Amino acid sequence: MIGNQLLLNICIMIAFISIGNQILTNREKSYDTSWRLCIAFSLMAGIVGIILSLNRVYVAPDMVLDFKNAVIVLAAALFGFAGVLVTGAMLAVYVLLYDAGSTASVVEALAVVIMAIGGGLIAKYAWPEWGWRQWFTILLWSVAVSVIAVVIRITDVEAALQWAALYGVSFIAISAVIYVYVNYLKVLSVYYRSYKENSLIDYRTGLNNIRQFEEKFGRIVQNLTDQSLIAMLFIDIDFFKKINDRYGHKNGDKVLEDLGKILISSCNHMDIVSRNGGEEFSVLMTDCPREKILDVAERIRKAVQDYKFILLGGDIVHMTVSIGVAVYPDTVKDIQRLVEIADKAMYEAKRSGRNKVVVAKP
Ligand code: GH3
Ligand code: MG
Ligand code: MG
Repeated sequence: MIGNQLLLNICIMIAFISIGNQILTNREKSYDTSWRLCIAFSLMAGIVGIILSLNRVYVAPDMVLDFKNAVIVLAAALFGFAGVLVTGAMLAVYVLLYDAGSTASVVEALAVVIMAIGGGLIAKYAWPEWGWRQWFTILLWSVAVSVIAVVIRITDVEAALQWAALYGVSFIAISAVIYVYVNYLKVLSVYYRSYKENSLIDYRTGLNNIRQFEEKFGRIVQNLTDQSLIAMLFIDIDFFKKINDRYGHKNGDKVLEDLGKILISSCNHMDIVSRNGGEEFSVLMTDCPREKILDVAERIRKAVQDYKFILLGGDIVHMTVSIGVAVYPDTVKDIQRLVEIADKAMYEAKRSGRNKVVVAKP
């Protein structure tokens, strides 16, 4: 019976943590970067604390184990000082209202507030890094405050010690399970974020990969208006194969990396710079004034031409690029053909001598 009730308390916590984790998945922000999320999660933790308290475990009629303070440990470790104060305040109000005005409830509410402040301070100053040490320190603090708050009220020393031992052991057991689960989710989320990022970013250059390019281009097409002016620069390295043949693939890779950096530094942060494959790159511009588009293409061509590519063995080589430019709606009427037309213009630049910018004909 007691086992079942303990299990119920663990399940309530796990359900809450799982829902919280689900809410955070795919969000840009988390509770440590957004104070709104931090407050929302801290309030949610408070509600869970109340649910835990309503499911307190009756070992005997006068021996009750209430695990609501587990959320104080959780809030201090995850949501920080401000967060745990919100959770603590909520639980303190609940305790005061539940047992309206009794001395016991005042003592308990006070204990909850002291526990939250101490837990927050531990998480802020003593162990700011997430980990079992931080968790265990806050946990011990929480158990100590709970035990002191109860023991000073109970006159029967033997009963008080019995309760303290039972509460301490079961609270630590529950908290350990929660720690393992939260830690598991944290590790999982680091992997998830890194896989997600790697699936959209070109590993070699750090630019958008073709998948991300297509997704962003798709979004541009969706949001097209009568005022839209979309420019596409299609960039291909001239005689790149020679670098691979003469200096090896690793040096080819180095050139690609450097080219990525040149492109980033030649473009505006709003531009979508991508590696579309092999030694082909693109810059998609949505807010470039008409008369500046060619300047950007020419700036890139010139920057590459002037750049000294330092190879792994110390050799310096010079490279050039051919750039095809297509502009919607000026040279391309059908936005879906923007990439294709820019690619054609790039081939025209190759055909007519390379190291050139060619604008697609309307
Ligand atoms: P062009 O001026 O006509 O563009 O000549 P090119 O040699 O640049 O073009 P080509 O299409 O003949 O060769 C492209 C080469 O790019 C062939 C391929 O081995 C090389 N390449 C593609 N991806 C990578 C890569 O990730 N790393 C390296 N090192 N080479 C790559
Ligand atoms: Mg090519
Ligand atoms: Mg090439």
